[in-house]
Amino acid sequence: MDNFEFYNPTKILFGKGMIAKLDEQLDKQARVLVLYGGSSAEKSGTLGEVRKALGKRSFCEFGGIEANPTYETLMKAVDVARKEKVDFLLAVGGGSVMDGTKFVAAAVPYQGEPWEILLKQGETVKKALPLGTVVTLPATGSEMNDIAVISRKETGDKLAFSTPHVFPAFSILDPTRTFTLPPRQVANGVADSFVHVMEAYMTLPQDAMVQDRYAEGLLLSLHDIAERITKAPADDYDLRSNLMWVATQALNGLIGAGVKQDWATHAIGHELTAKYGIDHARTLAIVFPAMLKERRVQKRAKLLQYATRVLGLTEGTEDERIDAAIARIEAFFEGLEIPVRLSAYEIDRAGIDPIIAQLKDHGMTALGEDQAITPEISRKVLERAL
Ligand code: NAP
Ligand code: FE
Repeated sequence: MDNFEFYNPTKILFGKGMIAKLDEQLDKQARVLVLYGGSSAEKSGTLGEVRKALGKRSFCEFGGIEANPTYETLMKAVDVARKEKVDFLLAVGGGSVMDGTKFVAAAVPYQGEPWEILLKQGETVKKALPLGTVVTLPATGSEMNDIAVISRKETGDKLAFSTPHVFPAFSILDPTRTFTLPPRQVANGVADSFVHVMEAYMTLPQDAMVQDRYAEGLLLSLHDIAERITKAPADDYDLRSNLMWVATQALNGLIGAGVKQDWATHAIGHELTAKYGIDHARTLAIVFPAMLKERRVQKRAKLLQYATRVLGLTEGTEDERIDAAIARIEAFFEGLEIPVRLSAYEIDRAGIDPIIAQLKDHGMTALGEDQAITPEISRKVLERAL
């Protein structure tokens, strides 16, 4: 196992009705800016519940943060936060609103041009406004991590930053707040969580018994959830509870502590979203199986471990078991009605060129747990996904 520091200060309030505890989490005098996305939080009643929970407290609102939140929109929120002199930011939404809120938190006190936060991947952030979240979409784990992914319309960039200053102080996870999700977003959430676990797990074996078995527990849960979720009613509280909690733990730092992590699938996926507007999770379903095919030598031991311990595949030669495991991963995505090929989005060989150019522009030239994924290997991965 590698050396590590683990730090995660986010308090979780989980369960039905927990939004009522919102005001108790905040300093008495704090003036709050509530940030949300399009119309879903209003329509579902979640915003109404939040307003009620804030009671007589002084607060203002900023709506309109789009999926794949943009710098352009978020800078308007920065202006509001500065003008209104708010002390605390409350994100009400999915990964996009939570990530956007983290950016606003870091940008408000930032000296200089805030896009630099993305260019320097968060290194230059010295402080941030405190923030909390009310989660409406279980997927990204943003509610319990210090990562945010921000897009810029003007340049077509989609970049990530992380800094411990943007860990949420608290996150409220009420599974009933996910009942209004369209099936496509539920499926995306399962797929994104799955790849978050895999990017930490499917690397070199490092005899990290706890991290591996913890990851395998999350993967087993995600396989079970995926089997049931497309047929289950939207208000299946237990199923939604399990999805919500697994999504949070998939990317709260624990399974990735002390082990080499991959993240090449996410890096390539971000470029597919930036260029073609494909939903984040859907880009991962395209890239991840192709990545495993391209890197089956490097990932051989872990593929076999996954095949045995998670999928229970014990028959056949090692290569047959690896083939079967990759096929099961493709079936996992397809069972969620998420395509695993670029052709599903009418992207052909020529459509790969701009993705490779963007990877180079963004310095994504040595990806993966061993930094061995050059742009040429990224090209091969995408060719396998044609
Ligand atoms: P999202 O972009 O936050 O939301 C997708 C859509 O779902 C929105 O149109 C939203 O509508 C709708 N929605 C949200 N909650 C709803 C509800 N309860 N009922 C009905 N509709 C609802 O999706 P996401 O997958 O959570 O976030 C994706 C973003 O997170 C991407 O930018 C991705 O790169 C990033 N990401 C971040 C991390 C991280 O660690 N921070 C990890 C992975 C991915 P409205 O706009 O109308 O609200
Ligand atoms: Fe993700």
